[in-house]
Amino acid sequence: MKLNEKQRDILRQKYGGRCAYCGCELGKSFHADHIEPVRRNWWENTVMHPERETLENFNPSCASCNIQKNSYTLEEFRENIKQFVNSLNQYSTQYKFAKRYGLISETEIDVKFYFETINPAE
Ligand SMILES: [Zn+2]
Repeated sequence: MKLNEKQRDILRQKYGGRCAYCGCELGKSFHADHIEPVRRNWWENTVMHPERETLENFNPSCASCNIQKNSYTLEEFRENIKQFVNSLNQYSTQYKFAKRYGLISETEIDVKFYFETINPAE
């Protein structure tokens, strides 16, 4: 579903001009993310869930959140982000060194998306 300019303006303001996920301020070239993924079949140029192509199913997103969310659901995306710390501890020598020297301290906080922390009515 290609949004027209007016729909993009409405979407951009959904969370006060901020990314629904990380909360950063959105530029003009923000991404329109499908909250419930449509899951594209790139080979056949089709989508598995065309019924999800509605304006209500879009969140305004920065490019990096949209690319990282990919075709995940919200809970899959949340779990994906949670796993980053494990991955860093397992594979990143720089991360492990920075942690060892006290430059990084880990928390056990839950991953909260920006839109979950604000009241959209305000
Ligand atoms: Zn973001």
